[in-house]
Amino acid sequence: MELPAAIREDHNPLAVAGFFPGLQRLLIFVRWTSYSCPHCNAVFRRDYWPSNVRLGTGERVCRKCGRVFDDGSREWPELPLGRKLRLLFSPLVIGVWGGFVIAAIASLFIGPRDEHSWSVVIVVSTFGLMPTLALSPIHLTQVIRSIRRYNARAEQS
Ligand SMILES: [Zn+2]
Repeated sequence: MELPAAIREDHNPLAVAGFFPGLQRLLIFVRWTSYSCPHCNAVFRRDYWPSNVRLGTGERVCRKCGRVFDDGSREWPELPLGRKLRLLFSPLVIGVWGGFVIAAIASLFIGPRDEHSWSVVIVVSTFGLMPTLALSPIHLTQVIRSIRRYNARAEQS
C-alpha cells in the first residue's frame, strides 16, 4: 500500500538574519526541518539536523485529522548501509569527535617538540568518542526494537 509522504520543509532563519552579522553567529545553530501531515498540514516533528534517520514502520496516524501517511521512518533491515551509519554516527557526535581530534592535532604544533605529544592525540581522540559510546546502548535498543517490529510485520504478511 502506497501512503502519501509527509511534507518536508526547511526553515533557515539565517536568510533573514543575514543583515545582522552578530546575530548570524548565534542563529547558525537555529535551523530546523519540519515535517507535516500531507492531508491537513499539521506539523508532527521538528528536526534540528537535516536528513535525520528515524526508525519506525513509516506509517503514522495524524493526531489532527486521523488519516494515515508515510512519515519517512524505516525499520533497520530496510535501511541502506549509509543511513545505518548515519543513525549511529549523528552529525553532532561526529562534530564533537572532530573538534577533539583537531584540538589534539593542533596541540602537536603548539607544544614543544621534545615532548612526545602523539600519546596525547590518541588519548584526546579517544575521549572525543565518548558521546558515541554513551549513545550506543540507546541506539542498540532502538535497533533491536526496530528489527523485532520488522520481523513481526513480516510474519503477519
Ligand atoms: Zn493530518
